[in-house]
Amino acid sequence: MRRAGKVVAEIHEKTRAIIKPGITTLDIDKASREVLERRGARSNFLNYHGFPATVCTSPNDMIVHGIPGDYVLEEGDIISVDCGAIVEGYHGDAAYTAPVGEVSADARRLLEVTERSLFAGIEQMYEGNRLHEIGRAVQQVAEAAGYSVVRNYVGHAIGTAMHEEPQVPNYWPGAPGPRLKVGNVFAVEPMVNAGGAATVELSDGWSVVTADGSLSAHFEHTIAVTDGGPEILTLG
Ligand code: MG
Ligand code: MG
Repeated sequence: MRRAGKVVAEIHEKTRAIIKPGITTLDIDKASREVLERRGARSNFLNYHGFPATVCTSPNDMIVHGIPGDYVLEEGDIISVDCGAIVEGYHGDAAYTAPVGEVSADARRLLEVTERSLFAGIEQMYEGNRLHEIGRAVQQVAEAAGYSVVRNYVGHAIGTAMHEEPQVPNYWPGAPGPRLKVGNVFAVEPMVNAGGAATVELSDGWSVVTADGSLSAHFEHTIAVTDGGPEILTLG
């Protein structure tokens, strides 16, 4: 899983490097495919329930699951990129939201807070702590900044499949979760909206947007619980 995580980190690095006004979301998918091919890794996104690409690209008010295509990034956009890799049967999964050129102070703050909420969740990933503390920490950071956390999509355990049980909500789920054990690996992935938490799925059957049209950001890492604390497997 460390090896799969490194490939995902490299996809992040290579796709971040090309993000600027004028490129298309399909260009981001191409950059991802090049890394997967060079590293001999397989994509866990391509053909997932029929998904046609190796990355999800979700601009502005799109929260997750956007399909790469001819959308041209514009100065001032934010773009969420979610991707993964399989190496020898083991999965990695991670996402980031990047500014396109110069963005508004509001957009910058949303990105900064969402990434900070992810790291607040990761800090809770030590042996013996309870799973729900991850989401509670994420929610605290996001809501303290006046934002809302998406409820309809959540993080997940990950291993020989991308999505394993249990789910990892980004909010207090209303009941205590199981205790964390060394060897657990989770994809923690806060989706934070500048406005309300409500979501709408578009008619393409994939793209999910904020119901109120507000901006949304998404940060994700694959993290292992080790006896030395949380180890982020998808860091560069
Ligand atoms: Mg992901
Ligand atoms: Mg995920």
